[in-house]
Formats: sequence, C-alpha cells, structure tokens
Amino acid sequence: MNTGIDQTHDPAQRSWVESANDPATDFPIQNLPFGRFRGEEDLDWCIGVAIGDQVLDLNCAKLLETQDMNRVMRLDKQPRQALRLALSQGLRHGSADEVRFRAALVPQARVEMGLPCEIGDYTDFYTSIHHATTVGRQFRPDNPLLPNYKWVPIGYHGRSSSIGVGNAGLGQTFHRPRGQIKGPEAVEPKLEPCSKLDFELEIGAFIARPNAAGEPVLLTEAEEHVFGLTLFNDWSARDIQAWEYQPLGPFLSKNFASTVSPWMVTLDALAPFREPFNRPENDPAPLPYLDSLENRQHGAISIELEVWLQTAKMRANNHAGERLMHSNYRDAYWTVAQLVAHHTVNGCNLRSGDLFGSGTLSGPRPDQAGSLLELSQGGKRPVALSNGEQRTFLEDGDTVILRGYCRREGFRHIGFGECRGTVLPAHP
Ligand code: CA
Repeated sequence: MNTGIDQTHDPAQRSWVESANDPATDFPIQNLPFGRFRGEEDLDWCIGVAIGDQVLDLNCAKLLETQDMNRVMRLDKQPRQALRLALSQGLRHGSADEVRFRAALVPQARVEMGLPCEIGDYTDFYTSIHHATTVGRQFRPDNPLLPNYKWVPIGYHGRSSSIGVGNAGLGQTFHRPRGQIKGPEAVEPKLEPCSKLDFELEIGAFIARPNAAGEPVLLTEAEEHVFGLTLFNDWSARDIQAWEYQPLGPFLSKNFASTVSPWMVTLDALAPFREPFNRPENDPAPLPYLDSLENRQHGAISIELEVWLQTAKMRANNHAGERLMHSNYRDAYWTVAQLVAHHTVNGCNLRSGDLFGSGTLSGPRPDQAGSLLELSQGGKRPVALSNGEQRTFLEDGDTVILRGYCRREGFRHIGFGECRGTVLPAHP
C-alpha cells in the first residue's frame, strides 16, 4: 500500500512558485497531481503537473519524453516515485533546476484542461453503505440493504464515451436527457425530458498497471495498479432509472454524461492521509481475497468531500454557489484495493486508463448525503437555498461543483481542485 512518507510530503518544503505556498491552494509542492492540458493554439494534449496556479509542462521541463499519459501511468513503483522526487526537488526553493522548470510553466488560467488520460472501460461501484441503505429504504422500507451488500463490492459496467472533464467555469455541459418515463399512476410510459435529474458525489480511481487476462490482482498488490484519484460526478436521471433498472440495473439513466475533475491526485501524494479501515463489530469479515492486515490498518483514505450548487440565478448575481453537503471518503464500505482485487478475481483484465467510480459517497448522517435523491428524500422535502430558491432535483442552468481535500495535523493540506458540470435544457 502507498503509505510511505518521504521528503516529498515534508510540510516544511516550499516552492519557488509563490502561488504554491498560498495556504489556500489545493496544489502545494506536496501534492503534484497529473493532468492533460493544451494552449489555445494547440491540437494535442500535453502532460502537466499542477503547482499553485500554474501547470508545469513535463516535456518542456525534460522530465518526460512521451505525451502519452497512459504510458506514464504504467510506470513501475521505482520510476514513478523517482519522477515525483524529481518534480519535488525541481520545484522547491533553491533548486538548481529552477531556470529550466520556470521556462516550462504555464498559468492554469491560460490553458484548457482535458480528460486526465484516455479512459478505457469504466466501472461504477456502490461503496457507501449509508447511500445503499438510504436509497434502499425508499424502495424497500423493511429490507433496505440487500443480503449480498456486505460480501460483494457491488458494481456495474458503465460507459466511457460520455465522460467529460469538469473544467473551470461551467465545466462539462450537457443537455437534460430524454427517456422513457412512467409515472406511478400512468398505464404506459412516455418519451420525455427527465424531470428528476440528480448528481452523485463520487471518487474516481484511475487504473495504472494492467493485469493479464486470467490473472487476478492480489489485494496486497492492488494499489500498484491504481495511479491516482479524482472527483467524479455520476449524473443520474432518477425517473428514467426507476422505470428501466429492473432486472439488469441502470442503463440510459446514467450514460448520457459523467464528469471527472481534471487532476489525478496520486496515491503517493495521499500517503499521509491513510486511515484504518474498520467495519462495525457485528458485520461479517470480508472473504480472505478481500482482507489483509495492511488493508485493515491503512486501507481507508481521509478525503473531505463537498457538493456545491450554483443556480443560474446565483450566477447572474455573481454568487459563487452554496454548499449542499459534505462527507468523507473514509466512510466507504470497501477500499480502492478491494475494488481492484474483486474486479479481477474472475480473471477480468484491467487496462491503464480504466476508471472506477466509488459510488455515491454519502456519510452516516442525513445531511451528509451525496445525492439530491437522498437530500430531498426522493423529492418529498425540497432543499432550501439561502437566496430563497429551492431544489428537489436539478433545474436547467444549475452548475454542480464537487470539491475534495485532505487535512492532517503535521502535514500540508492538499486538494483535488474542482469538478464542475452544468445542466443545459433538453434538446427541443
Ligand atoms: Ca453512481
């Protein structure tokens, strides 16, 4: 597991990039997340690392020869950690590389961010027991959690073609989806625009090294197959979902758009924020292939998560938006390593650039719910906003902003940046 603390995590390190020393930045020298960017004139994506309000172009800085992020993600532990150390040493105060690195800096405000890599297959999990229980209760009041939940990391195969990047501003924009919707009293469904559009607060995990078909990844090696984490919004059309989901699960209610944040925060950077992974005392222990001492001691990661909403009215009034909830990734019922071990236990091969969604990350309290479905109790109790507006589900013009950050006494806090997306009206 990536629990090693070294000089790259030292909170005393400061950068000659002044904005990286701003206590408010998500991207101090201790973070060094990877993404792909291009300037206004460029056609191709370049590999960059965020530092303060700048991007370091890794080709210009002569740290990489490839422009292929998926190749970089396949690096073994030793070259991967050597690259992180070279970045840390080159960007810190007094570095001999300052002149070379300075020539490779571009302000983030002047570049367009792309998807962080070429995304192959996408699998969405369901790792919050709090989300699974609350949503289950809406459908099955007496039996909210299905019997397999505490044994199997539940997931389904999603679609990668409609995954976009949640850049600054409006972020990924998409039209409100249409689909078959059948009201509870209606005899037949109709094709109409979704009226129960929702967000889902999730963490995305990007696969690093592939495994060969037929060769399961052991839990103890699973994190060597994960490059880094992002924020992830799995937009969901609840009314389409309710009619289509039986018996094979979600389909068109989920695959019209999903938004990933532009920067992959590496598991190396997240090492100081590892936590024990505990289950309630009376819950069953995971089967042996999903259990290890290391996973119990360090499997969880403390990432504070927030969902913000900026309505069109707020935007018109220069209002930055309002926080709807916050939760923490450490409350997930399955760890990233367990997801990799489970996904491959049958011999399924993962490829670098594949994306896992964690599932909606609701916390134990009702105000920590990671979707409007939960916050508005299925649409029964509108969420009141401070400007007098209210929401049961999303309206046209709404921008949803996900944020995530890690804090621990004795370490520099790091963040994920933002994951933004905006709902456009349905196509006429
Ligand atoms: Ca989901």
